[in-house]
Amino acid sequence: MPARDYDAIVVGASFAGLAVARQLRGNVLLLDRNEVGAVQTSACGTPLWLPEALGVASSVLQVHDRLLIRTPTRTVRYDLAPVPFCTFDYRAFCRGLLAQCRTRFLRTSVVGIQEGAVVTGDGRFTAPIVIDASGWRRAVSGGAPDRPGERYSFGLETHTELDDEGLTFLLDQRLIPQGLGWIFPVGRGSLIGLGSYAGRSKLKPAIESLVRRHGVASGAYHGTYFPSRLLRPTVGRVFAVGDAAGQCLPLTAEGIRPAVFFGGECGRIVQQILDGALSLEAGLERYRRLVAAYRRPYRLLRLAQWMAAHTPTRWFALVTHAAAMRPFRSGWWPRYGWFGRPRPCEAVAT
Ligand SMILES: Cc1cc2nc3c(=O)[nH]c(=O)nc-3n(C[C@H](O)[C@H](O)[C@H](O)COP(=O)(O)OP(=O)(O)OC[C@H]3O[C@@H](n4cnc5c(N)ncnc54)[C@H](O)[C@@H]3O)c2cc1C
Repeated sequence: MPARDYDAIVVGASFAGLAVARQLRGNVLLLDRNEVGAVQTSACGTPLWLPEALGVASSVLQVHDRLLIRTPTRTVRYDLAPVPFCTFDYRAFCRGLLAQCRTRFLRTSVVGIQEGAVVTGDGRFTAPIVIDASGWRRAVSGGAPDRPGERYSFGLETHTELDDEGLTFLLDQRLIPQGLGWIFPVGRGSLIGLGSYAGRSKLKPAIESLVRRHGVASGAYHGTYFPSRLLRPTVGRVFAVGDAAGQCLPLTAEGIRPAVFFGGECGRIVQQILDGALSLEAGLERYRRLVAAYRRPYRLLRLAQWMAAHTPTRWFALVTHAAAMRPFRSGWWPRYGWFGRPRPCEAVAT
């Protein structure tokens, strides 16, 4: 084993990696192949309490207190007032979190892990604790599959000048079979996108026609693969968080909250290891048990995703309609909106 360079190394400096890093004191190295906040892949829609609790509320672009689900046969309206959602500026959000970290940041591409060392374009770095927060590519906890479309969902979106139509999901198999569309107002204009649960990545023509239908032009595109099933939260002595551990929520493809939630919990466990209060093995086991406690809700959402992908849209439209009505609604809302909310004392950890 080469000499130890750092107490811990975090690979990936987006939602999950920054959520881990902001919990850590000590000699910690944070790695990403891009500058922090430079490469957005997400529509950045999340409950308003999240940026507020993290101390980055200034990144919020627009607050949303209703959600529309549009299907060919009906439009279902959800009142989000009990837990308003927001869309935020990715760069401002990430830079705000980075400012709360005491870690050293290095922009470099991580190639993998060899003989305990994290191998990068700028050399090898060693640490007793390694955290993989590199998204679906899982740079140090298994790597990406050869055919990601067989295992992951895929999402693509473009910025348009479309005026505020409200936070909207589109369920229409003619638009996208086995998937969903969305229109997310972002202060100025809206992001219009499609997500394929079947991992289809050639979504641009369908988005172009959707954009044209709204009488606007498409702007720059961004997108990537994202998981919809939990993967192993630890691989050897490596902790995996966020999309690297498959923690993106099935059905809604909400991955920011879980990345921040599990990232924060992982960071707290790692800090206990650094403080000598836990052994590495005990820390890995504690993190595995924490993630395992959420298997049931993930299974339920995955079942709902399967229904959305495999039942005729008009049936699923009936289900979404019923889910919005009492007494069904009280079974999941606002509980869903509070998932991952930090306890007050844990909010802004600096
Ligand atoms: C089009 C689209 C829209 C979405 N919209 C939403 C939404 O509105 N709300 C929501 O909650 N979720 C949304 N998601 C899902 C969400 O974006 C992800 O679940 C979330 O980004 C996961 O965060 P993460 O930190 O785990 O991974 P990522 O955000 O993917 O970050 C991984 C980081 O690791 C770095 N990295 C990767 N490989 C390497 C390497 N080899 N070396 C060094 N660095 C590396 C990357 O540069 C990146 O910074 C969307 C996804 C897509 C594709």
